Amino acid sequence: MNNFIERHLAAEYRALLFPHEFSGQATFGFECNDGWADLIEASLRLVQRRAELHALDVLVTQAKEKFGQLRIYHSGADEGIGSVFEIAQLASGYICELCGEPGKVASLEGWLVARCGKHSEPGHQHQIAPHLADENYIASYMRAVDSILAFFGTRAVLWVQEERTAFAGRRPSEMLATEEGCQAIYLMLKRLEHGVGV
Ligand SMILES: [Zn+2]
Repeated sequence: MNNFIERHLAAEYRALLFPHEFSGQATFGFECNDGWADLIEASLRLVQRRAELHALDVLVTQAKEKFGQLRIYHSGADEGIGSVFEIAQLASGYICELCGEPGKVASLEGWLVARCGKHSEPGHQHQIAPHLADENYIASYMRAVDSILAFFGTRAVLWVQEERTAFAGRRPSEMLATEEGCQAIYLMLKRLEHGVGV
């Protein structure tokens, strides 16, 4: 991940990324490409809020791409925070790791990677524009995941990965890849909360 984003995340989420006794200047090395930067930022912001609320000493020990998904290894989490990281892993498989556009996990030259249509060709030479944080997406993602956790509790991760008739057979994990999908999830859960049939 580019150094500018890593420094930004290290500064904003210092309490999650470095042990308390650590006082130096440092960059946290995210072992993935920039397309997942907003997903990572949204997840860290959710976790930071929850950790503060429940006085938990959560520490992210490693964040890396593995088999086309984002894995965030951590300690000190409760079940809700563990679910935030698991949901991020599932959603990452539907977000191009290079550019952040919707995508899917595919085999590319023998490796499983998350790529959009444009970036799923071997040896592609497409220019990738420098990543700019999309605060609207980050806010929508956080709101959707908060609703999912509030509504489904311990079943949240399961709910996210199965196809849903309410979304024409799509998986919520796939819908979390876009701002529109996040909003659709949030609105549907809000209707359910108020007892309106869907
Ligand atoms: Zn792409």
